[in-house]
Amino acid sequence: MEHLMARKVALITGGSRGIGAAIARRFAPTHDVVITYVGATERAEALVEELHATGARALAVRTEAADAADLRAAVDRTVAEFGHVDVVVGNAGIAPYGPLADVTLDEVDRTLAIHARASFLLAQAAAPHIPDGGRIVFIGSSLADRVPYAGWSLYAMSKSALSGLAKGLARDLGPRGITVNVVAPGSTDTEMNPSDGPDADEERSFTALGRYCSPDDIAATVAHLAGDGGRMITGAVLAVDAGVTA
Ligand code: NDP
Repeated sequence: MEHLMARKVALITGGSRGIGAAIARRFAPTHDVVITYVGATERAEALVEELHATGARALAVRTEAADAADLRAAVDRTVAEFGHVDVVVGNAGIAPYGPLADVTLDEVDRTLAIHARASFLLAQAAAPHIPDGGRIVFIGSSLADRVPYAGWSLYAMSKSALSGLAKGLARDLGPRGITVNVVAPGSTDTEMNPSDGPDADEERSFTALGRYCSPDDIAATVAHLAGDGGRMITGAVLAVDAGVTA
């Protein structure tokens, strides 16, 4: 009986703020939580304290998502601390935006490294430590499916890679009962895309519901995928986007 009640372990990249922090808060009642961050040390540590106060064991690890060794070290640290990892959420991201002619080669390489390459490497490093029945979730974007404005080609390309990755990993890891999915948010109220920002009204106008998602709207679907209700969902892209792709 004791093992059935045991707390699980979640590793969430980019957990210091925004969507990643909302996912960490969602998991804390039932999971011990490792968050990664790249610059926001104080905020990551403050969230760890907040999670401790709920009874979770929690840890923040500085991890540059574009750095393969850093990603492997984050997985190693998680396993050293907690023994295994039940849920891996690849969330860390950036939002490069601008006229096509201005995009530099460095920006192309860095964006692909942070969104696509990091997701692959994270899953590859974590897979041996995920027990049968575990979960991998990547945070994609509605812009991988519909791009209603100019200036987002690079971002859309980098996020659309996650769909193919999730489908391939679903086949690789399916025999172990591990599911792999993408949650694809639409406009979500974070520092990356504040709901009172200069483009917010236009973004709202593209949605069916006429509103932004909250970070917790995204976290709720990640939690569903990680729970019993998600056990038969794999290789899927779930839009949580207020109908922007409807
Ligand atoms: P935020 O900018 O609020 O948070 C980004 C998070 O990613 C932070 O924890 C940040 O760490 C971390 N991060 C950024 N760059 C790196 C890096 N190079 N290496 C490691 N970690 C990094 O963004 P959101 O919460 O809005 O976005 C989370 C995810 O959701 C992203 O993948 C984004 O593309 C996606 N998304 C967001 C949408 C939105 O409208 N907000 C819509 C669709 C998808 P630190 O705090 O240390 O800087």
